[in-house]
Formats: sequence, C-alpha cells, structure tokens
Amino acid sequence: MKKILISLFAFIMIVGVVTALSSCGHQHTTMTVYEERVAATCTTRGVVDIVVTCIECGEEISRTPSSSDKLPHTESDWIVDIPSTCNVYGSQHKECVDCHVLLQTSDAPLSEIHNPVIDEAVAPTDVTDGYTEGSHCEDCGAIVVEQEVIPAFLQGVALKSLSNAFVLNEEHPEQLVCTVSNEVEIFSFLQDILVAKNAHYVLSTDIGCVSTIPSKTVKLNVGTNIFYILVNNEGESMLYYVTITRMEA
Ligand SMILES: [Zn+2]
Ligand SMILES: [Zn+2]
Ligand SMILES: [Zn+2]
Repeated sequence: MKKILISLFAFIMIVGVVTALSSCGHQHTTMTVYEERVAATCTTRGVVDIVVTCIECGEEISRTPSSSDKLPHTESDWIVDIPSTCNVYGSQHKECVDCHVLLQTSDAPLSEIHNPVIDEAVAPTDVTDGYTEGSHCEDCGAIVVEQEVIPAFLQGVALKSLSNAFVLNEEHPEQLVCTVSNEVEIFSFLQDILVAKNAHYVLSTDIGCVSTIPSKTVKLNVGTNIFYILVNNEGESMLYYVTITRMEA
C-alpha cells in the first residue's frame, strides 16, 4: 500500500504511519504528506502544508503550514553591456532569467571588426622586392589583408646588362657577348652590370678569378677581349664568360 502511494504521488512524501483514535472509535492509520500551496521561486520560499490524514477513513487529522526552500537562479547567456572594439574590451554579465539578479560579470570578447587602412602596393625593381596592396587596422595594427612579396626581377646569381651592351644567349646564359666600336677604349662593368640586391661579383681576366679587377673598369684592345664575372649570392655562385670585341678602325 505504501509503495503504491509513493508511486502515485511522487511529489508527496510519506513521513510516517502512526495510529490514533478516531471520533467514531476506530484506530486511525495516519500518513503525513507535504502539500504544496504556493510554489517556491528563486526569490521567495514556497508554502507547504504538512497534512496528516487517515489512510483508512480519509479524515484529515491535522494541517500545519510550513515553507519550502527557494529554487536556484537560472543563469542567462552573456549579455553585453558595453560592446568591445577590436582593441578595447567592453563588458558583459550573466543574470537570472527570472529575477534578473546579477550573477557574473566579465570583459566582453574583442570585436573582429577592424578599421582598415590601405598599405600601398610597391612595384619591384631589378634588385628590390615589391609588395602587393594590403591593409591593416588603424586601431589595433592587425593585418587585415596581408601584403605579398613580389620578388625583385634579379634573383640569385642572375645579372643584367643595364645598357643592353651584352647580347644574352638564351641557350648559354653564362656567355655574355658584346661588340663595341673602335672608339670605345675603356669599358666600365660597374656602370653596366647589375646583380641581385644581396649578390656581389668579381671581374677577372682569368677563369680562376684570381687576377681580379677591383675597379671593374678595363682597357679594351682591338679585337677580342676575354673576361670572367663570378657572381656570388649567399653561397650560390655562377661564372659568366665575357667576350668584348672592339672593332678595328
Ligand atoms: Zn480513520
Ligand atoms: Zn533568480
Ligand atoms: Zn583592429
């Protein structure tokens, strides 16, 4: 009997079974239950009656008012009070969705909305790298659009003849051939040969590049003049064979 009652009235608690005498003379068999009259909330206690009845004749023997505990608060999601920018934290809080009491405060997460300014594109030159257009945030400095490097035209151990005096041979790029008139007695490699930004070269009259010409300026004989250019760029090197033909008068 007791088990059936518990399962039927799950919210009712059977406290005990005692016996007492009824007005008509039978021995009451009592049970005590808590009857909720006013539900508890997160701010107010509930009202319950402790009711003693007889399970045989149904007579209510006593009813004593009492109270139940408050319910816990129900936490809200984060509510933003002061919105963040991309570099200044705002504030946010959590509150009870029912009674709105403040439960928690914290910094609001930084915004991902930036204030971009353009970083101008820079064209590459023979020896300096260029950059594509990009942008960064004026407020926090974050890169919004990254600038990409456009490599300098001259890379590694490549060289360039500025005056195009040398005819470049595509099949044999290491061979530099040039013909000058008889009037050209002095030839300056310094003014003509350009190498990559970090590269260096030596001019020499021998293939072993021992007899170097630091001035990089040479006197030309009539006919064929042979030189060697050794370009070095951070450990990488290449030897160029230079033929300058000075025409006869
Ligand atoms: Zn009874
Ligand atoms: Zn509450
Ligand atoms: Zn920003």
